[in-house]
Amino acid sequence: MNYEFATRMTDLTPSAVREIMKNAVDKDDILFASGNPATESFPLDAIREITADILENDAFEVLKYGISEGYQPLRDRLAQRMKDKYNCTQDFDEVLITSGAQQVIDMACRVLLNEGDTVICDSPCYMGALNVFRSYNVRIKGVEMEKDGLNIEQLEQLLKTEKNVKLLYVVPNFQNPTGITMSMEKRKAVYALCKKYGILIIEDDPYGELRYSGQALAPIKSMDTDGIVIYSGSFSKVLSAGIRVGFSYAPKPVSDKIILAKQVSDVHTNTFFQVMADRFMEKYDLDRHIAFIREIYRRKSALMIGAMQQHLSDCEFLIPDGGLFVWCALPKSIDMLDYCMKAADNKVMVVPGTTFTISPEYPCNAFRLNYSTPSDEQIVAGVELLGKTLRDYK
Ligand code: PMP
Repeated sequence: MNYEFATRMTDLTPSAVREIMKNAVDKDDILFASGNPATESFPLDAIREITADILENDAFEVLKYGISEGYQPLRDRLAQRMKDKYNCTQDFDEVLITSGAQQVIDMACRVLLNEGDTVICDSPCYMGALNVFRSYNVRIKGVEMEKDGLNIEQLEQLLKTEKNVKLLYVVPNFQNPTGITMSMEKRKAVYALCKKYGILIIEDDPYGELRYSGQALAPIKSMDTDGIVIYSGSFSKVLSAGIRVGFSYAPKPVSDKIILAKQVSDVHTNTFFQVMADRFMEKYDLDRHIAFIREIYRRKSALMIGAMQQHLSDCEFLIPDGGLFVWCALPKSIDMLDYCMKAADNKVMVVPGTTFTISPEYPCNAFRLNYSTPSDEQIVAGVELLGKTLRDYK
């Protein structure tokens, strides 16, 4: 059979991370390529207790169809959390439960973008978002990431000159892949510019709770008196990634359309796991659990950064204040893809930076490292091997 696929699939690239994982068959391989949370961050005992209780007392509730908006007690609890934690108090916003933050990006794009519209995003950008944009056949324009977030002049230039700009996509906290956090000044500037040019913002914040150093910054959503921000949150990094529970917090007119799109896509998010997330928030102390997770990442990131300072001192990297990743730029003379392959030969898997560029031809001499999944020993040994891989060029 000669399979003919839709043109919207043409530019979609397979997840480089998954491809790299496929090659990592040897038990000695050291994986710095994952995006998974640390296994020790999953509250297994609580999950066991909650699961048993749901099956015992609410089996029918979770096994039948639910509503597309999501499990109401969880929606209420998350809306309250947005108010208490981030002072998001506008009446026009509401919570919808989604199948992860990934679905917020997809649903928002599905309801807002026509073919040929323009999306502006941070550059480099989370590849799961890039693939969503590609699947809607839109034009993608990147704004360079600086140490404190987007280059604001570039953003304004694009807003002024590009046609049919509909959306700005940003990850202000511990961005994937760079680990960069957007300063408060830039959050305000981004909001003011998008308001001025009539652009909606997707504020993707799956890592926001994972701050282990520095002062927490209010999300852009907290300034949203005009109803232009679609905030996306997730339980993936604070409870479990496999349960696929996330949420959007968005103005009602946008939410209403997302509900329709979600009905078409997957009807509703898995009820069992929505109830599980709700019970966890009700019966256990989510903030205490998050504090526990932060300690894990504080320690692991310090270990990785210390090893990088020792073995990769010829590279440039920023010390993240939270999240799961470090972005490491190689000396200009080194070919990044060649380096990543040589690192894999040396049994260390990292993600080549071009995975996160708007097109593979975009120049990039950096790669992404993850510290949440490897063991302490692997972090130390793996960075040492990355240093050896670099020295082998000399
Ligand atoms: N946004 C970003 C920036 C991510 O890195 C990820 C995946 N780790 C997601 C969204 C998707 O998260 P979820 O598991 O909640 O769908």
